[in-house]
Amino acid sequence: MTVERVPASLGGATSHGHLLELIRAADGLSRQQLLSTTGMSRATLYERLDTLTRRGYIYEAEPLDSTGGRPSRKIRFEDRGRVVLAITLGQTHGTVSIADTTGRQLRSVTRGLDISEPAASVLDPLIQDGRALLAQGADETLLGIGVSLPAPVEAVTGFVKHPTTIPGWAPDSVVSAVKAAWDLPLVIENDARAAALGERNSDTETVVYVKVGTGIGCGIVVEGSILRGAHGSAGDIGHIRMTPDGPLCRCGRRGCLAAYSSGRAIQDQLGHLAFSTTGQVSDAAMAGNAEVLNALDSAADVLGQALAATVTTLNPDRLVLGGQLGSLATFVERVAHRVLADVVDRIAEGMVVEAGHPEDLAACHGLTTLVMREIFAPRAVDRMFSDVTALA
Ligand SMILES: [Zn+2]
Repeated sequence: MTVERVPASLGGATSHGHLLELIRAADGLSRQQLLSTTGMSRATLYERLDTLTRRGYIYEAEPLDSTGGRPSRKIRFEDRGRVVLAITLGQTHGTVSIADTTGRQLRSVTRGLDISEPAASVLDPLIQDGRALLAQGADETLLGIGVSLPAPVEAVTGFVKHPTTIPGWAPDSVVSAVKAAWDLPLVIENDARAAALGERNSDTETVVYVKVGTGIGCGIVVEGSILRGAHGSAGDIGHIRMTPDGPLCRCGRRGCLAAYSSGRAIQDQLGHLAFSTTGQVSDAAMAGNAEVLNALDSAADVLGQALAATVTTLNPDRLVLGGQLGSLATFVERVAHRVLADVVDRIAEGMVVEAGHPEDLAACHGLTTLVMREIFAPRAVDRMFSDVTALA
């Protein structure tokens, strides 16, 4: 008997991985639908479906309407009881969520924290929360973990890099802490990027997501993928210099966008009101404090001005604003007004400017997407099958 040197499953349009992708994307398909979609021979298709079933990737679900003969069943992605753990870290609070494979939050815990503390004292309580949440689930299988951080993250390694928010954290602090708790696929992502991915309505959308909380973050999603840029800094708008002699920024330069429009900047501007958190600024705005509302208007104007360039470059379907200040209705309205006034009609036309979902939900959704792609992307699945072939 001859054995193929290079398994046919490597990269072909109808490899195990691509078949699984089709089944996942379509929310289940019949064998007949798979035959006509892929154009595969019946024997090869059935053999691959059998292998995928044996290895727990798919299962035969409800019977389809039968026109006589043996009723055929819908083939579904095996997602029953499978969950992802998402840890979404902000500067002052963190949420740990258990999500289903679509990124829907099933249960969660939120706790206050101070991101300027050492990594272990921030991460250990969240890992304990994760363990407790997992213990509450019956017949669940944890597939992987996603963590989002208010800092730049290197996509391949998950290392935090040059963070102004957490300068004391070692690059590998998050990877090491989480891997020590769970030896499973792990994805670490910047918080605004995770939320941007979670906010997309479809994989054909282009979305610009801007988080205005204590700091300013931005994530850009083009056709379902996070735009990273040559060195991973695409969308890092917080430190665009708006004026050369403006207020001092935490990065050490003057006049950055973050020095005008972030929650921290507003706290500094309103020093006499002694806000100690961005949440307090947000509460005062919602209570109608005129001074705070004025400061927010100015912050929104500067942000809108910066975003005019961003949206003109990217021509997005939607500009989504999140974060404790960014999602305030009055802030969204003001940013929208400014952006739409500053760009040409063909960019403004059809572009929706709106508040996002609560950040922890958006980031949880985005992180789950990343974890699922890491595990179930066609290439990852085909690699598993080629390993098995090599061992056989
Ligand atoms: Zn700066």
